[in-house]
Amino acid sequence: MAYDIAVIGGGPAGLSAAVQARQRNKSVVVISGDDRDGPIYKTERIDNYLGLPQIRGPELLERFRKHADSMGVERKTGRALNIMQMNGAFYISIGSDMAQAGAVVLAPGVARGVKYPGEAEHLGAGVSYCATCDGMLYRGRDVVVVGRSSEAPEEANFLQEIGCRVTYVAPREPEGLHGGIPFVKGVRIEVLGEKAVTGVRADGRELSCAGVFILRAAIAPTDLLPGLALRDGYVAVDRDMAASIPGVFAAGDCTGLPLQISKAVGEGLVAGHRAAEYLDKHK
Ligand SMILES: Cc1cc2nc3c(=O)[nH]c(=O)nc-3n(C[C@H](O)[C@H](O)[C@H](O)COP(=O)(O)OP(=O)(O)OC[C@H]3O[C@@H](n4cnc5c(N)ncnc54)[C@H](O)[C@@H]3O)c2cc1C
Repeated sequence: MAYDIAVIGGGPAGLSAAVQARQRNKSVVVISGDDRDGPIYKTERIDNYLGLPQIRGPELLERFRKHADSMGVERKTGRALNIMQMNGAFYISIGSDMAQAGAVVLAPGVARGVKYPGEAEHLGAGVSYCATCDGMLYRGRDVVVVGRSSEAPEEANFLQEIGCRVTYVAPREPEGLHGGIPFVKGVRIEVLGEKAVTGVRADGRELSCAGVFILRAAIAPTDLLPGLALRDGYVAVDRDMAASIPGVFAAGDCTGLPLQISKAVGEGLVAGHRAAEYLDKHK
């Protein structure tokens, strides 16, 4: 589907940007992973959001979302894996799905770019971030799922259903994992192999496999969009929330301190407005 603006991340910053862009009559899609992975969902009580003292995090998120829905914002559940730019348009891959947009607002929250040893070297040579995209390549073979998101057990189940022999590695055993998928406790992870993946070391225990699916809730902005400039580890933006790539804006925790909801909402407003203005000027 083609939209005027694609927003990556359905937290306070992304939903605020989406609402503002809808006010400027732009078509908007918000692409976001499982709510349970967002920090606001885990917040018992928020005391410093103006006008709504002592509100629970999930309730505030629900209000933001209802507001966005009422404005005609489209929402797509899934992880944005990659953004490509071609002929003035952005193409966002979301698992095996794709969205096209004239401008992008990055609002994925804080995502650190720290990778496991061996991960970057084996990307595309046994390391994958997407079970639905790459699972068939490993049919009938041993794979390890490193589960770091709420959706990871479902993706592991999917891999088992299509015929992969799956081992699930995570700091603690998740709910919802199919019987027959062995669970291995693992915090310290290392991807093993020379040219291609041959195994994973999880807290010192070696698991032999041909593929490893590393399923995190968030992907570092520089992995999503190679070439994006950072400042102190956060997405570098100007006062218009414009990032270093024309047509790309950013808002919220991904742009830096303070990591707070009011700041995310305010920056989202600016990013949504400026993305709409950008389209008016360039399309
Ligand atoms: C325990 C805790 C308590 C807090 N208490 C307060 C408080 O009292 N007051 C306050 O102001 N702030 C508080 N915060 C901080 C506040 O939650 C954040 O500042 C705010 O949520 C940032 O909003 P955001 O939209 O930038 O990012 P987020 O809320 O992190 O939302 C980003 C969303 O994008 C999704 N996402 C990331 N990458 C991708 C991708 N590649 N594809 C699709 N989706 C993606 C994430 O899953 C997430 O749902 C607290 C945080 C924590 C952890």
